[in-house]
Amino acid sequence: MSATSATDIRNVIIIGSGPAGLTSAIYTARANLAPLVIEGEPSSTSDQPGGQLMLTTEVENFPGFPEGIMGPELMVRFREQAVRFGAEVLTQKVSRVDLSGRPFGVWIGDPDAAEPTYKANAVIVSTGAQSLMLGIDAEKRLLGHGLSTCATCDGFFFRDQDIAVVGGGDSALEEAIFLTKFARTVTLVHRRDQLRASKIMQERAFANDKLRFLWNHVVDDVLGDTTVERVRVRNVETDELSDLEVSGLFVAIGHRPNTELFKGQLEMEDTGYLVTQNGTHTNVEGVFACGDVQDHTYRQAITAAGSGCMAAIDCERWLEHAEV
Ligand code: NAP
Repeated sequence: MSATSATDIRNVIIIGSGPAGLTSAIYTARANLAPLVIEGEPSSTSDQPGGQLMLTTEVENFPGFPEGIMGPELMVRFREQAVRFGAEVLTQKVSRVDLSGRPFGVWIGDPDAAEPTYKANAVIVSTGAQSLMLGIDAEKRLLGHGLSTCATCDGFFFRDQDIAVVGGGDSALEEAIFLTKFARTVTLVHRRDQLRASKIMQERAFANDKLRFLWNHVVDDVLGDTTVERVRVRNVETDELSDLEVSGLFVAIGHRPNTELFKGQLEMEDTGYLVTQNGTHTNVEGVFACGDVQDHTYRQAITAAGSGCMAAIDCERWLEHAEV
């Protein structure tokens, strides 16, 4: 970490360190822009250095790894590659940004401090997205106590137990299939009678003896004071309630972009995803966005990495012509 002062003006600050942020770091570092990557802080959600791949198991579709690679290992490699070319990586969280004038202000720590911790001529936003929750009270009480959003982190604790996963997309099936390695049975609770997941994942799931499917049901409540004892589900067609006798519940119902920091400053959709145009340009000149923070369609590691590369190139070209 380098010394920080209010006069510390960087060419480019990259906020976020998933595949998008670290790819933009590799490219801007190789363009001699000496990027500063503010990678975030460790947490038990996907809002952490390395992003969502830190919470996945095997990644089988990232080109160049025919035998597959574990998500966290892939992110370690991205990071090493960025550092090798001179990117500086700071393991802290940005608490505030001021994008109203250049150089832009970036705060770490006290957001009310008069002066920003760093200033930057350009900013690349790659803060990604994180898991959606069901919005029931029990989640606050039981998250980390039988209720989880991360099979990789917590699957081991459910050896030979009966557990449930909620969701019908690729994430839910990936989690459910992974959990069958430990659990006795895994019940997938889905609100419709058709999965949203890709065909290949569906085929794998249907072929897995330990996986059961509870169609047309939603989770109404999770029972248990200090640990998950039962999951109360509701049939969406009949409204009938019933209890699943499970000791664990994994929530895998999608994601929300991490854009709180940029509200009122960067144009975003109603869903919070940043709007980009002409490549990775945001509505503020000199601010670029890449990866899941601006992509709700593809949301793959490889597309995030690709847009990180685009952001670096857009940024480099913009810096060449901007009067900074
Ligand atoms: P997703 O595709 O948006 O699926 C979310 C699932 O959760 C849907 O089945 C949805 O039901 C359900 N859901 C949403 N809100 C719910 C609620 N409040 N209660 C109950 N169920 C709810 O999200 P994802 O599975 O996280 O995948 C996101 C993207 O990442 C996708 O593009 C996916 O292909 C990709 N991905 C790929 C891989 C892989 O290739 N290995 C792995 C993981 C993710 P409905 O179907 O009824 O809407």
